[in-house]
Amino acid sequence: MAPTVAAEATAAAAQQHTGKAAALAARDASGHLAPLTITRRSTGDDDVAIKILYCGICHSDLHSIKNEWNNAMYPVVPGHEIAGVVTEVGKSVTKFKAGDRVGVGCMVNSCQSCDSCDEGFENHCRGIIFTYNSVDRDGTITYGGYSSNVVVHERFVVRFPDAMPLDQGAPLLCAGITVYSPMKYHGLNVPGKHVGVLGLGGLGHVAVKFAKAFGMKVTVISSSPAKRQEAMERLGADAFIVSKNADEIKAAAAAMDGIINTVSANMSMAPYMGLLKPNGKMIMIGLPVKPLEIPPFDLIMGNKTLAGSCIGGMRDTQEMIDVAAKHGVTADIEVVGAEYVNEAMERLAKADVRYRFVIDIGNTLESSE
Ligand SMILES: [Zn+2]
Ligand SMILES: [Zn+2]
Repeated sequence: MAPTVAAEATAAAAQQHTGKAAALAARDASGHLAPLTITRRSTGDDDVAIKILYCGICHSDLHSIKNEWNNAMYPVVPGHEIAGVVTEVGKSVTKFKAGDRVGVGCMVNSCQSCDSCDEGFENHCRGIIFTYNSVDRDGTITYGGYSSNVVVHERFVVRFPDAMPLDQGAPLLCAGITVYSPMKYHGLNVPGKHVGVLGLGGLGHVAVKFAKAFGMKVTVISSSPAKRQEAMERLGADAFIVSKNADEIKAAAAAMDGIINTVSANMSMAPYMGLLKPNGKMIMIGLPVKPLEIPPFDLIMGNKTLAGSCIGGMRDTQEMIDVAAKHGVTADIEVVGAEYVNEAMERLAKADVRYRFVIDIGNTLESSE
């Protein structure tokens, strides 16, 4: 019974998909991205139609196209760091008009009626619809920002402040809100407090910039001694610790109010818990594949907190990009053409990028027709 109903829903929905878009899609777990023409729904009453100009390449895109989380629904068109210009709005849309500079992050819809949605935390909604590889309300699969255009409910569209460049701002829609939200809700946005940033990559470098914008003391903790100069001289960190250097770790004992842990490699937490002051907070935003190793003693002594954080709601996402624009916080990017995307993925897998690839969709993504 169910499959028939779903098939009918999909067929009916497809009839509403009157728009077309050029896209880059992975067809299988090789993850190879190749041109594909996809459809987009016609602009509904609450929808905003967007011409995509830039899309950041997030590490999640790499996991998704290679089916490393075992949930890929091919073809997968990744991309949830979307920046572009509004081309058309539905008749009930109040916040946007054609020509506005806008962005779309990790989600494109939610139930819009549960407690989480009412409180502005659509990211915790059980009916969340992700920007790609997710089943949309009409039964179709969502396609992300490695494409020429997209249609999104206005609630999930973010306004770009005039001062925020579209290319350097695009990665903030995932990486930016991922670090901003836990800093806000765990009190790590207060001048004079001391935050550690564990791992200096796509997430970490934005965390350092926000922390400096908040007037905090920032220590970068990295496995790579070569990043010391970069962290301190260019990004403005106050101190740098090589994670494998036991003397440096010991010298910084009980110094930090919190640590933003961006590391996605399997790791032991024990050495880092000691860097926290009493009541200090270790906040996980990286996603190692294996379970965390943390001796209970290191959590209990000093009343430490171990917390997790997953992106942020739409209100906070808008606030994040407004704060970023005000303080000149942007992502450091390498802009690439659509034809370079497979090479970019290979380099990303080796962490060979400072710090985010952004695809110049507007100038380089050509229709496959
Ligand atoms: Zn992401
Ligand atoms: Zn909801």
